[in-house]
Amino acid sequence: MRRDLYTAEHEAFRSAFRAFLDKEAVPHADAWEESGTVDRAFIRAAAENGFLGFEFDAEHGGLGIADFRYNAVMAEEVVASGTAGDTFSMQNDIIVPYLRDLTTPAQRDQWLPRFTAGDCVTALALTEPGAGSDLAGIRTTARRDGDFLVLDGAKTFITSGATCDLALVLTRTGERDGRGTSFVAVEAGTPGFERGRPLHKIGRRAQDTAELTFTGCRVPIGNIVGEPGRGLGSAIGNLPRERLSIAVSAVASAAHALGLALEHVRARVAFGAPLAELQSVRMTIAELHTEIEVVRHYVDRCVLALNAGELSAEDAAGAKYRATELQWDVVDRCLQLFGGYGYMEEYPIARIWRDARIQRIYGGSNEVMKDLVGRAVVRG
Ligand SMILES: Cc1cc2nc3c(=O)[nH]c(=O)nc-3n(C[C@H](O)[C@H](O)[C@H](O)COP(=O)(O)OP(=O)(O)OC[C@H]3O[C@@H](n4cnc5c(N)ncnc54)[C@H](O)[C@@H]3O)c2cc1C
Repeated sequence: MRRDLYTAEHEAFRSAFRAFLDKEAVPHADAWEESGTVDRAFIRAAAENGFLGFEFDAEHGGLGIADFRYNAVMAEEVVASGTAGDTFSMQNDIIVPYLRDLTTPAQRDQWLPRFTAGDCVTALALTEPGAGSDLAGIRTTARRDGDFLVLDGAKTFITSGATCDLALVLTRTGERDGRGTSFVAVEAGTPGFERGRPLHKIGRRAQDTAELTFTGCRVPIGNIVGEPGRGLGSAIGNLPRERLSIAVSAVASAAHALGLALEHVRARVAFGAPLAELQSVRMTIAELHTEIEVVRHYVDRCVLALNAGELSAEDAAGAKYRATELQWDVVDRCLQLFGGYGYMEEYPIARIWRDARIQRIYGGSNEVMKDLVGRAVVRG
C-alpha cells in the first residue's frame, strides 16, 4: 500500500542519513556489540552532520526543524542498517523535549550547544530498583541545602548511563505535602555521582545500560529542570512521544525482518522448490505483511498527530503496545522461516530477535500501556 507519510524532503534526508550510517555505523556495528557501547567518535560525527538535536534553534546549534517524520525516518534507517545503538532515539526523540521545553534560557545556553556538538550525551533516569512501572514510588531524594540540592539514592536500567555527560534524574523534592518530585540535571564527574559498569543484557548490546548512584551528591539549585515539584508530571507529559518512538522502531524492525525472511524463503530450496512455493509459507508471509501494513498505518497517523500537538496519552500507549507485540510476533515467526540458520549469530535475524524483546518492557510495559488505554476508554 502506498504510504503518504513522507515528502520528497524526508526521502532526501533518508538517503543522506542512510549514507551516513553506511559509512560511520555499519562498519563498527559488531565492535559496538562487543564493547557494549557506541563510540563517541560516531556521536560527534552524527553531530557534525546535523543529526543530533536538529529541533533546537540555530542559536544553539540546531536546525529549528520540529517534524517527527524526520525522527521516524532515522528510526527506520537505523533498523534497516542493522545497527542497534539507541543514540538517536534516546537523544532526539526522548531527551530533546525535556531540554527544549522545560529548561530556562541559561540552561539552554549551558547544555544545548554541547548537545548539538555531540559533547553532551544525555540520560533520562526515572527507574529505580524499587520503582519501575510505579514511578510515584521513587525514593531518590534531592534535599535543599542553601544554593545546592543534595541527591541520595539509586537509579537502574539507565540507557547511556555508563557513558552520559548529563543525567536528568527524577528525584523526590517533597513539595505539595511531600508528594513533590523534580528533575535535576547532574553532570558527569560531580562528586557523589557514580555509574556502574554496563549491565549484561540479552539484546541491544551495543547500547550501554547502567546503574547510577547518588551519595551526598551536591548539585547547584539552578540544575532543576522544569517546574519544581512537578517532575513526574513533566515525565508523563513527554511519555507519549517516547512511546511513539518505540512504536515507530517496532514497525520498522518488523518490516526489516520480513524483508530478510522473504529473501531467504525465495532462495532456500526444500523438497525440490524454494520455500516460498509452499502454501503455508505464503500464508505466513501474507499474515505478517498485512499485519505490518495495518499497524504501520495507525502509527503513521500517530506521527502526524504528534506533529499537530494532538497525540493523546492513550493513543500513544496503544501504538506502543500494539506495535511492539507485532514486532515480537513478526520477528519470531521470521526467525522460524530461517530454520536453524535463524539461531546463528551471523544471521542478522538472530540479533533482531534478541533486540526486539525489550520493546515490550521499557517505555512503560505493555501491561501498563493496556491499563492506560483501558482506563481512558472506560472513562469515555
Ligand atoms: C534495556 C533497558 C533500558 C531501559 N532504559 C531506561 C532508561 O533510559 N531510563 C529509565 O528510567 N528506565 C529505563 N528502563 C527501565 C524500564 O522502563 C522498566 O524496566 C519498565 O518500566 C518496567 O519497570 P520494572 O522493570 O521495574 O518492572 P515492574 O514495574 O516491577 O513490573 C514487573 C511486571 O509487572 C507488570 N506490572 C506492573 N505494574 C502493573 C500494572 N499496573 N498492571 C499490570 N501489570 C503490571 C509489568 O508489566 C511487568 O510485567 C530500561 C530498562 C531496560 C531493560
